[in-house]
Amino acid sequence: MPSETLNEWERHNELEKTILTGIYGQPEIKRAEKNRFLGEFRERVIKRLSKKQVAEPGIYPEITSALEDENAKKMVIHGDIPYSQARKYEKLAHKLQKGCSIIHEPGFKGDTGLLVVSGNAVDIENIDVEDRTLRLTRLGVPEPLIHSAGRKVCKSCLDKMLKADPAEASNYTMITFLDHLWGEHCPGCTSTEH
Ligand SMILES: [Zn+2]
Repeated sequence: MPSETLNEWERHNELEKTILTGIYGQPEIKRAEKNRFLGEFRERVIKRLSKKQVAEPGIYPEITSALEDENAKKMVIHGDIPYSQARKYEKLAHKLQKGCSIIHEPGFKGDTGLLVVSGNAVDIENIDVEDRTLRLTRLGVPEPLIHSAGRKVCKSCLDKMLKADPAEASNYTMITFLDHLWGEHCPGCTSTEH
C-alpha cells in the first residue's frame, strides 16, 4: 500500500474514531458519572453525604436544609446502607413531603451514601457536607456531647449545643425530671465531669 493512501486511511480512521466518540463517548462518561451519584446526573445534585456520614446517629442539618430547598425533588439512598442507619433520613424526607428511594445497584462506585437531588440541573459546585464532629468541635462543643446525637441530654448540654448550632435541635431531647428519678445520666457531660 502506498504510504499516502495509508495516511489517508489512518486519518479517516481517526475521524471515524472522533465521530464514534462523539456518538458513544458521552453516554459512557455519563453512565460512569451516574454510577458515582447513585444513578443521578451530577448537575442535579444539591447535597451529598458519604456512607460514613449516613451511618452517624445524628441527622446532618445540611440535609434538612437541602430538602427544604425549593429545587429539591427527592432523596436517594445507597441500598448498601443498613436500613437502621438510613431510616432516620427516609423519615425526614417523608416529613418534608419529598420522595425517598433506596436504590440497590452493584454498579455504584465511590463512597456516596445519600443525595438530595433536583428534577433539573442546578449545577451546585460544592455538594459535600463537612464532617459533623469536625464542625461542632470547631464551634467548641465537647466531643461526648457531639456523639450523644439522638439521645436525651441535660439542660446545660442542650443549651450549650443550641448556642453553638441551633440547627442541631432535632438531634437532641432533654432529660426529664422523671428520667432523672430513674437514674438516667446525661451522656453529653458524664465523661467530662469525672
Ligand atoms: Zn449534660
